[in-house]
Amino acid sequence: DFGTAEVRRAPDAPPLVKADDLPPARHFIGGEFVEAMSESCTDVVDPCSEEILVQIPEGTAEDVDRAVASAAAAKDDWARLVPKARSELLHAIADRLAEHTELLVALESANTGKPIRVAQDDIAGTIDTFRFMAGALRATTSLAAGDYIENHLSLIRREPIGLVGVVTPWNYPLLMAAWKIAPILAAGNTLVIKPSEQTPLTTLKFAELVGDLVPSGVLNVVTGLGPAVGARLAEHPDVDMVALTGSVNSGRAVARTAAETLKRVHLELGGKAPVVVFPDADLAAVASTLRVAGYWNSGQECGAACRVLVHESVAGEFVERLVDEVRGLVVGEPLAGEDVEIGPLVSKAHFDRVRAYLERARNEGARAAVGGEALGGPGYFVAPTVLVGVREGAEISREEVFGPVVTVETFRDEDEAVRRANEVPFGLSASVWTENGRRSHDMAARLDAGTVWVNAHLVLANEVPWGGFKGSGYGRDLSIYALDDYSRTKHVMHNHGR
Ligand code: NAD
Repeated sequence: DFGTAEVRRAPDAPPLVKADDLPPARHFIGGEFVEAMSESCTDVVDPCSEEILVQIPEGTAEDVDRAVASAAAAKDDWARLVPKARSELLHAIADRLAEHTELLVALESANTGKPIRVAQDDIAGTIDTFRFMAGALRATTSLAAGDYIENHLSLIRREPIGLVGVVTPWNYPLLMAAWKIAPILAAGNTLVIKPSEQTPLTTLKFAELVGDLVPSGVLNVVTGLGPAVGARLAEHPDVDMVALTGSVNSGRAVARTAAETLKRVHLELGGKAPVVVFPDADLAAVASTLRVAGYWNSGQECGAACRVLVHESVAGEFVERLVDEVRGLVVGEPLAGEDVEIGPLVSKAHFDRVRAYLERARNEGARAAVGGEALGGPGYFVAPTVLVGVREGAEISREEVFGPVVTVETFRDEDEAVRRANEVPFGLSASVWTENGRRSHDMAARLDAGTVWVNAHLVLANEVPWGGFKGSGYGRDLSIYALDDYSRTKHVMHNHGR
């Protein structure tokens, strides 16, 4: 019996959100909620109860065009604001979100099923992103440079790119929106955002909460499906740049479409983070870190510590420690207590996808040391799982599962560890565990990932850039690098000679 986890329920708890807490199920365009052009709708489902929370409009190309026209009209006035004014507005947004933290936590939890502590972390991160960008934008000034040609003074102006189309995923709905919205506004751009059709509630609520602070047209939300709304944003000639967080396939589709108008593209795609454990590592620390970093948000996390490569000499001891940690994880509904660590997967489709991965992994010879199966419904719960006996090159070790599943493989020496860690098409993040200083620096340089942690995993701050190499996309979220990505550089040269 490996599936020791049980779903803790809260049958008598009042619902997380009341009807009054829900945002209007309409697009937000030109500073107000407006009716959609079409009557088609998508169900927004509570993944714990499988009940429909609300239906949201499936936006059309015409809805996008309306939102783009509004963002285009607002562009010049917004770009002209001095940094201090934009900064104050971003601080006001952060204050407004902070006043409504509890509501946002409840909405995020209700829509995704994520534990309260995960939703609290999301909303705190969202607020801090706005505060960081409010400060950072005032420190990233244009440069007055020198005379590089005799009697010619060069100035470097940082300018907004203009109008950015944004497409976000369902795993951290508001946090991923904030990682785009804050630097895009900070850098002086206007935007149209399409949240995931599965999790639009907090993005719509955000528009409702800050709608009176942001000038009309600067921020627009169009709900709906990727191939309609997202694709039109990538295609529209008046959209200057498109930024997407999502899967590799969606990234590829957006980049292909954007190529027609040569608009800039910013892509944060999937990951398959290797966790490289050397024999001199503190195995207890690796196991307790992975209890969080491998399973945070039910493993629906692009940086999840999902692929352990452990030296063969300590593999047995390591697996024992990890299994002990994972057995202790508390699975449940958000209302079943603040100690709940693992919620359901986001949707039936995703649940089926993760179960199919587990099934195929078993067929390829892997064995669940703990977990390995779905837990009883209602709700899309999968037991926190550790898979051992995973062969080199097996599907489960190459593809992003995006569930509470950590695989364990072994290696013999450093070169093999590097080769195996780097052989997947993703390059978002990785961690290396060793007490040897030379080895940690050497490994950090050799691992092909946008973030490498040493003796840590999944630790992030707004000051540091986040983004991938290879199939994980290009462009950086967070930090002043994100502000750079949403700005353009203009050189102005004055002939001041006589
Ligand atoms: P997804 O690609 O299915 O959806 C993401 C968004 O793209 C949604 O809003 C969707 O409607 C839209 N979309 C889908 N097809 C589109 C198209 N043809 N054109 C334009 N837009 C389209 O991804 P998901 O399942 O919502 O999210 C999970 C994925 O996101 C995972 O691969 C995960 O690794 C990735 N992710 C990455 C990061 C990061 O920072 N790198 C963060 C979170 C999630």
